[in-house]
Amino acid sequence: MAHENARKLYGKPKGPYRQKSVKKRIEAIFLDNLGKVLTREQIIEAATDPDSGRQPENWHQRLSELRTDDGYTILSWRNRADLKVQEYLMPHKRKRRGTGKRVRPTDATWMAVLKRARCACEWNEGGMVCGLKDGENDPVGGGRVKLTPDHKNPHSLNPDADPKDPEQWQALCGRHQVTKKNYWDTTTGKLNAYAIVQFATEPEKREVFRFLLSYFGYTILEDGSITRCET
Ligand SMILES: [Zn+2]
Repeated sequence: MAHENARKLYGKPKGPYRQKSVKKRIEAIFLDNLGKVLTREQIIEAATDPDSGRQPENWHQRLSELRTDDGYTILSWRNRADLKVQEYLMPHKRKRRGTGKRVRPTDATWMAVLKRARCACEWNEGGMVCGLKDGENDPVGGGRVKLTPDHKNPHSLNPDADPKDPEQWQALCGRHQVTKKNYWDTTTGKLNAYAIVQFATEPEKREVFRFLLSYFGYTILEDGSITRCET
C-alpha cells in the first residue's frame, strides 16, 4: 500500500493539558504532535479534565468536530492503510476553509421538529421511514437511539440555514446521521462518492482502487508495482 515504506512515528504528549474544554485539549495534543501517530489512550488522557480527573465519554465526538467544524485534517485507519484502528494523525495544522461553527436550530424549532417527527427518526429511504424512537434500542446499529437535528441541505451549500424554520430541519438517529454524511444532499439524492469510499472496508477500497487503476489505464504487475497499460 501507498504508505507502507514511510516510517511511522509515534507522538509524545507534552501535557498536562489545561485548556478549558475537551475539544481544546484534544486540539492541543494534536498540534504538539504534527505528523505523528497518536493513540486512543493518549488522546483520552489529554482530554481528561485536569482538575476532576474525569475521562470524557464524548472525546470522539469532539475529535470529529475538530474535523467538521474547525476544518482540521485528522487521519485514521479509514484514510491511511498503515494506521491501525484507534490511531490518529494530524499531518499539518492547516485548516480547510469554508468550515465554521455548525448552525443549530433554536430550541423552539427543535421542539417543533420533534413534535412533527413524533420523537422518531425521520430518515426516509425510498419511502421507508426509519421511525426509531428516542431512547429505543437500535436493532441494526446497536446502542440507544438519540435523536439530533439534521439540516436537510448540507451546511456547505447553505451557510445561512434558518435556525427558526422547522422545515429546514429533520430529526435523525445516530446511525442515520452517519448515513446522511455519505450523501451530498438528501433532497437531490446525490451521493458523496469520496465519503463512501472512505467509509468502505479495506477489501471494498481495494476493489475501487483496482477499478480506478483500470479506468485511468493503469495495471498492477505481479510484483505490486503499477504501470500504464500498453494498448
Ligand atoms: Zn434512523
